[in-house]
Amino acid sequence: MGNLSSVMAHCWTRGQEVMVGDQSHIFVYEQGGISQLGGVHVSTLTTREDGTFDLEQVVNKIRSPDPSCHEPQTALICLENSHNRCGGRVLPLLFIQKICALAHNRGIKVHMDGARIVNASVQSGIPVNEIVKECDSVSICLSKGIGAPVGSIVAGSSEFISRVMRCRKVLGGGMRQAGVLAAAGLVALATARERIQKDHLRAQKLAQDIYNLNSDLITINPDAVETNMLLLNFPSSRFTSQQFVDRMALVKEEDPEQVLVKASTWFGNRVRFVLHSDLSEDDVASAFRKIQSIAV
Ligand SMILES: *Cc1c(COP(=O)(O)O)cnc(C)c1O
Repeated sequence: MGNLSSVMAHCWTRGQEVMVGDQSHIFVYEQGGISQLGGVHVSTLTTREDGTFDLEQVVNKIRSPDPSCHEPQTALICLENSHNRCGGRVLPLLFIQKICALAHNRGIKVHMDGARIVNASVQSGIPVNEIVKECDSVSICLSKGIGAPVGSIVAGSSEFISRVMRCRKVLGGGMRQAGVLAAAGLVALATARERIQKDHLRAQKLAQDIYNLNSDLITINPDAVETNMLLLNFPSSRFTSQQFVDRMALVKEEDPEQVLVKASTWFGNRVRFVLHSDLSEDDVASAFRKIQSIAV
Protein backbone atom coordinates (compact mmCIF):
# COMPACT_ATOMS: atom_id res chain seq x y z
CA MET A 1 0.00 0.00 0.00
CA GLY A 2 3.02 2.28 0.50
CA ASN A 3 3.83 2.24 -3.20
CA LEU A 4 0.22 2.38 -4.34
CA SER A 5 -0.65 5.40 -2.22
CA SER A 6 2.64 7.08 -3.21
CA VAL A 7 2.00 6.59 -6.93
CA MET A 8 -1.59 7.79 -6.52
CA ALA A 9 -0.39 10.87 -4.63
CA HIS A 10 2.20 11.76 -7.28
CA CYS A 11 -0.13 11.07 -10.22
CA TRP A 12 -2.92 13.21 -8.83
CA THR A 13 -4.29 14.31 -12.20
CA ARG A 14 -6.24 12.01 -14.52
CA GLY A 15 -4.44 10.80 -17.62
CA GLN A 16 -1.02 10.61 -16.02
CA GLU A 17 1.59 7.92 -16.50
CA VAL A 18 4.21 6.30 -14.28
CA MET A 19 7.37 4.61 -15.55
CA VAL A 20 8.31 1.41 -13.73
CA GLY A 21 10.83 -1.36 -14.35
CA ASP A 22 9.39 -4.49 -15.96
CA GLN A 23 10.89 -6.53 -13.10
CA SER A 24 9.87 -4.10 -10.37
CA HIS A 25 7.75 -5.11 -7.41
CA ILE A 26 5.22 -2.44 -8.36
CA PHE A 27 4.80 -3.91 -11.84
CA VAL A 28 5.02 -7.62 -11.02
CA TYR A 29 3.61 -8.14 -7.53
CA GLU A 30 1.01 -5.50 -6.77
CA GLN A 31 -1.88 -6.77 -8.91
CA GLY A 32 -1.48 -3.79 -11.19
CA GLY A 33 -3.02 -1.83 -8.33
CA ILE A 34 -1.71 1.50 -9.60
CA SER A 35 -3.88 0.98 -12.71
CA GLN A 36 -6.63 -1.11 -11.15
CA LEU A 37 -7.29 1.21 -8.23
CA GLY A 38 -5.22 4.30 -8.94
CA GLY A 39 -6.26 4.84 -12.56
CA VAL A 40 -2.61 5.53 -13.43
CA HIS A 41 -1.27 4.46 -16.82
CA VAL A 42 1.91 2.36 -16.74
CA SER A 43 4.91 2.52 -19.02
CA THR A 44 7.59 -0.14 -18.50
CA LEU A 45 11.34 0.20 -18.67
CA THR A 46 13.61 -2.82 -19.14
CA THR A 47 15.05 -3.76 -15.77
CA ARG A 48 18.70 -4.74 -16.19
CA GLU A 49 20.36 -7.48 -14.16
CA ASP A 50 21.52 -5.02 -11.51
CA GLY A 51 18.11 -3.37 -11.10
CA THR A 52 18.98 -0.28 -13.15
CA PHE A 53 17.57 1.00 -16.48
CA ASP A 54 19.19 2.22 -19.66
CA LEU A 55 19.01 6.01 -19.33
CA GLU A 56 18.53 6.45 -23.06
CA GLN A 57 15.46 4.22 -22.91
CA VAL A 58 14.08 6.33 -20.08
CA VAL A 59 14.60 9.54 -22.05
CA ASN A 60 13.06 8.02 -25.19
CA LYS A 61 9.97 6.83 -23.33
CA ILE A 62 9.22 10.05 -21.48
CA ARG A 63 6.28 11.73 -23.19
CA SER A 64 6.61 15.19 -24.62
CA PRO A 65 6.34 17.87 -21.91
CA ASP A 66 3.31 19.27 -23.68
CA PRO A 67 1.55 16.12 -24.88
CA SER A 68 -1.16 16.26 -27.49
CA CYS A 69 -4.63 15.19 -26.41
CA HIS A 70 -3.74 11.69 -27.66
CA GLU A 71 -1.05 10.94 -25.10
CA PRO A 72 -0.83 10.47 -21.34
CA GLN A 73 1.47 12.75 -19.39
CA THR A 74 4.57 11.29 -17.72
CA ALA A 75 4.38 12.28 -14.06
CA LEU A 76 6.58 9.82 -12.18
CA ILE A 77 9.47 7.35 -12.39
CA CYS A 78 9.78 4.57 -9.78
CA LEU A 79 13.04 2.97 -8.67
CA GLU A 80 13.53 -0.07 -6.42
CA ASN A 81 16.44 -0.46 -4.00
CA SER A 82 17.52 -3.08 -3.12
CA HIS A 83 15.94 -4.83 -6.09
CA ASN A 84 13.90 -7.89 -5.14
CA ARG A 85 13.51 -9.67 -8.51
CA CYS A 86 17.18 -9.03 -9.28
CA GLY A 87 18.15 -10.87 -6.09
CA GLY A 88 18.65 -7.97 -3.72
CA ARG A 89 20.95 -5.92 -5.97
CA VAL A 90 21.82 -2.42 -4.78
CA LEU A 91 21.37 0.54 -7.15
CA PRO A 92 24.52 2.60 -7.68
CA LEU A 93 24.09 6.09 -6.17
CA LEU A 94 25.18 7.65 -9.46
CA PHE A 95 22.33 5.90 -11.29
CA ILE A 96 19.78 7.25 -8.80
CA GLN A 97 21.24 10.75 -9.15
CA LYS A 98 21.15 10.59 -12.95
CA ILE A 99 17.53 9.40 -13.01
CA CYS A 100 16.51 12.14 -10.60
CA ALA A 101 18.33 14.81 -12.61
CA LEU A 102 16.78 13.83 -15.92
CA ALA A 103 13.32 13.44 -14.34
CA HIS A 104 13.42 16.73 -12.46
CA ASN A 105 14.65 18.58 -15.55
CA ARG A 106 11.37 17.57 -17.14
CA GLY A 107 9.11 18.23 -14.15
CA ILE A 108 8.79 14.50 -13.41
CA LYS A 109 8.90 13.14 -9.84
CA VAL A 110 10.88 10.13 -8.61
CA HIS A 111 9.57 7.61 -6.09
CA MET A 112 11.88 5.09 -4.46
CA ASP A 113 10.43 1.69 -3.60
CA GLY A 114 12.79 1.30 -0.68
CA ALA A 115 11.16 -1.76 0.88
CA ARG A 116 14.74 -2.91 1.57
CA ILE A 117 16.53 0.43 1.49
CA VAL A 118 18.27 -0.21 4.82
CA ASN A 119 19.80 -3.33 3.27
CA ALA A 120 21.03 -1.13 0.41
CA SER A 121 22.39 1.36 2.91
CA VAL A 122 24.25 -1.24 4.96
CA GLN A 123 25.74 -2.77 1.81
CA SER A 124 26.89 0.52 0.30
CA GLY A 125 27.80 2.31 3.52
CA ILE A 126 25.71 5.26 2.33
CA PRO A 127 23.11 6.55 4.83
CA VAL A 128 19.48 6.15 3.74
CA ASN A 129 18.93 9.93 3.69
CA GLU A 130 21.83 10.27 1.23
CA ILE A 131 20.54 7.50 -1.03
CA VAL A 132 17.11 9.11 -1.36
CA LYS A 133 18.28 12.72 -1.14
CA GLU A 134 17.21 13.59 -4.69
CA CYS A 135 14.08 11.40 -4.69
CA ASP A 136 10.67 12.95 -4.08
CA SER A 137 9.39 10.10 -1.93
CA VAL A 138 10.37 6.74 -0.49
CA SER A 139 8.46 3.78 0.92
CA ILE A 140 10.19 1.48 3.40
CA CYS A 141 9.04 -1.88 4.80
CA LEU A 142 9.65 -2.34 8.50
CA SER A 143 8.76 -6.02 8.17
CA LYS A 144 11.47 -7.12 5.70
CA GLY A 145 15.19 -6.91 6.49
CA ILE A 146 14.52 -4.45 9.32
CA GLY A 147 12.71 -7.27 11.10
CA ALA A 148 9.60 -5.71 12.68
CA PRO A 149 6.45 -7.86 12.70
CA VAL A 150 4.45 -5.41 10.60
CA GLY A 151 4.43 -1.95 9.07
CA SER A 152 5.70 0.33 6.35
CA ILE A 153 6.78 3.96 6.16
CA VAL A 154 6.19 6.50 3.42
CA ALA A 155 8.24 9.70 3.46
CA GLY A 156 8.07 12.81 1.31
CA SER A 157 7.06 16.47 1.41
CA SER A 158 4.21 17.46 3.72
CA GLU A 159 1.92 18.20 0.77
CA PHE A 160 2.69 14.77 -0.67
CA ILE A 161 2.11 13.07 2.69
CA SER A 162 -1.33 14.69 3.09
CA ARG A 163 -2.30 13.17 -0.24
CA VAL A 164 -0.81 9.80 0.75
CA MET A 165 -2.89 9.86 3.94
CA ARG A 166 -6.06 10.49 1.95
CA CYS A 167 -5.16 7.60 -0.37
CA ARG A 168 -4.28 5.29 2.52
CA LYS A 169 -7.64 5.95 4.14
CA VAL A 170 -9.70 5.27 1.02
CA LEU A 171 -7.66 2.12 0.33
CA GLY A 172 -8.61 0.74 3.73
CA GLY A 173 -5.22 1.28 5.35
CA GLY A 174 -6.26 3.61 8.15
CA MET A 175 -5.65 1.97 11.54
CA ARG A 176 -6.64 3.03 15.02
CA GLN A 177 -4.34 2.57 18.02
CA ALA A 178 -1.51 1.70 15.63
CA GLY A 179 1.09 3.21 17.97
CA VAL A 180 1.80 -0.14 19.58
CA LEU A 181 2.83 -1.48 16.17
CA ALA A 182 4.82 1.66 15.44
CA ALA A 183 6.70 1.13 18.72
CA ALA A 184 7.83 -2.29 17.53
CA GLY A 185 8.92 -0.61 14.30
CA LEU A 186 11.02 1.91 16.20
CA VAL A 187 12.77 -0.83 18.16
CA ALA A 188 13.42 -2.76 14.95
CA LEU A 189 14.79 0.34 13.21
CA ALA A 190 17.10 1.17 16.10
CA THR A 191 18.70 -2.26 15.99
CA ALA A 192 18.38 -3.09 12.29
CA ARG A 193 21.83 -2.21 10.97
CA GLU A 194 23.75 -4.68 13.10
CA ARG A 195 21.34 -7.53 12.28
CA ILE A 196 21.27 -6.69 8.59
CA GLN A 197 25.07 -6.64 8.53
CA LYS A 198 25.00 -10.19 9.87
CA ASP A 199 22.43 -11.26 7.27
CA HIS A 200 24.67 -9.91 4.51
CA LEU A 201 27.84 -11.57 5.81
CA ARG A 202 26.03 -14.88 6.18
CA ALA A 203 24.51 -14.57 2.69
CA GLN A 204 28.00 -13.92 1.30
CA LYS A 205 29.44 -16.92 3.10
CA LEU A 206 26.55 -19.19 2.08
CA ALA A 207 26.93 -18.09 -1.56
CA GLN A 208 30.67 -18.77 -1.47
CA ASP A 209 30.13 -22.16 0.17
CA ILE A 210 27.58 -23.15 -2.48
CA TYR A 211 29.91 -21.89 -5.22
CA ASN A 212 32.77 -23.93 -3.77
CA LEU A 213 30.69 -27.10 -4.01
CA ASN A 214 31.38 -26.91 -7.73
CA SER A 215 28.08 -28.70 -8.30
CA ASP A 216 26.70 -29.47 -11.77
CA LEU A 217 23.18 -29.28 -10.37
CA ILE A 218 23.27 -25.98 -8.48
CA THR A 219 25.30 -22.96 -9.52
CA ILE A 220 25.53 -19.45 -8.15
CA ASN A 221 27.28 -16.19 -8.95
CA PRO A 222 28.57 -15.04 -5.55
CA ASP A 223 29.48 -11.63 -6.99
CA ALA A 224 25.78 -10.89 -7.54
CA VAL A 225 25.01 -11.51 -3.86
CA GLU A 226 25.08 -8.00 -2.45
CA THR A 227 22.56 -8.09 0.39
CA ASN A 228 20.47 -10.79 2.11
CA MET A 229 19.33 -12.71 -0.97
CA LEU A 230 20.83 -15.53 -3.01
CA LEU A 231 19.67 -16.68 -6.43
CA LEU A 232 20.58 -20.28 -7.30
CA ASN A 233 20.59 -21.60 -10.88
CA PHE A 234 19.61 -25.11 -11.94
CA PRO A 235 21.34 -25.79 -15.24
CA SER A 236 20.55 -29.50 -15.39
CA SER A 237 17.16 -30.84 -16.54
CA ARG A 238 17.74 -33.72 -14.09
CA PHE A 239 17.15 -31.38 -11.18
CA THR A 240 14.79 -28.41 -11.42
CA SER A 241 14.37 -25.48 -9.08
CA GLN A 242 10.96 -26.87 -8.05
CA GLN A 243 12.47 -30.27 -7.17
CA PHE A 244 15.11 -28.51 -5.10
CA VAL A 245 12.60 -26.40 -3.18
CA ASP A 246 10.41 -29.46 -2.52
CA ARG A 247 13.40 -31.45 -1.29
CA MET A 248 14.58 -28.63 0.98
CA ALA A 249 11.13 -28.54 2.57
CA LEU A 250 11.20 -32.29 3.16
CA VAL A 251 12.87 -34.00 6.11
CA LYS A 252 13.54 -37.71 5.70
CA GLU A 253 14.57 -39.98 8.52
CA GLU A 254 17.82 -40.91 6.82
CA ASP A 255 18.78 -37.29 6.16
CA PRO A 256 22.05 -36.34 7.85
CA GLU A 257 20.65 -32.86 8.45
CA GLN A 258 17.25 -32.93 10.16
CA VAL A 259 16.17 -29.48 9.07
CA LEU A 260 13.43 -27.99 6.93
CA VAL A 261 14.57 -25.11 4.72
CA LYS A 262 12.13 -22.75 3.06
CA ALA A 263 13.02 -21.20 -0.28
CA SER A 264 11.06 -19.79 -3.21
CA THR A 265 11.24 -20.90 -6.81
CA TRP A 266 12.20 -17.89 -8.89
CA PHE A 267 11.70 -17.02 -12.54
CA GLY A 268 14.26 -18.46 -14.95
CA ASN A 269 14.39 -21.88 -13.21
CA ARG A 270 16.07 -20.32 -10.20
CA VAL A 271 15.57 -20.38 -6.45
CA ARG A 272 15.65 -17.43 -4.07
CA PHE A 273 16.96 -17.70 -0.53
CA VAL A 274 16.40 -14.81 1.86
CA LEU A 275 18.36 -14.51 5.09
CA HIS A 276 16.75 -12.66 7.98
CA SER A 277 17.10 -11.78 11.62
CA ASP A 278 15.28 -14.86 12.91
CA LEU A 279 18.06 -17.11 11.59
CA SER A 280 21.17 -17.91 13.58
CA GLU A 281 24.59 -18.68 12.18
CA ASP A 282 23.99 -22.34 13.07
CA ASP A 283 20.71 -22.33 11.14
CA VAL A 284 22.49 -21.11 8.02
CA ALA A 285 25.30 -23.64 8.45
CA SER A 286 22.73 -26.37 8.85
CA ALA A 287 20.89 -25.22 5.71
CA PHE A 288 24.17 -25.33 3.83
CA ARG A 289 24.84 -28.91 4.92
CA LYS A 290 21.41 -29.86 3.65
CA ILE A 291 22.12 -28.18 0.30
CA GLN A 292 25.47 -29.95 0.18
CA SER A 293 23.90 -33.36 0.76
CA ILE A 294 21.50 -32.73 -2.12
CA ALA A 295 23.81 -31.00 -4.57
CA VAL A 296 26.45 -33.69 -4.96
C1 LIG B 1 7.24 -6.20 0.34
C2 LIG B 1 7.54 -5.20 -0.73
C3 LIG B 1 6.69 -4.10 -0.95
C4 LIG B 1 5.39 -3.94 -0.17
O1 LIG B 1 5.31 -2.67 0.38
P1 LIG B 1 4.11 -2.29 1.40
O2 LIG B 1 4.29 -0.85 1.65
O3 LIG B 1 4.33 -3.09 2.63
O4 LIG B 1 2.85 -2.62 0.69
C5 LIG B 1 7.04 -3.19 -1.90
N1 LIG B 1 8.17 -3.32 -2.64
C6 LIG B 1 9.02 -4.34 -2.47
C7 LIG B 1 10.28 -4.43 -3.28
C8 LIG B 1 8.72 -5.32 -1.51
O5 LIG B 1 9.55 -6.35 -1.33
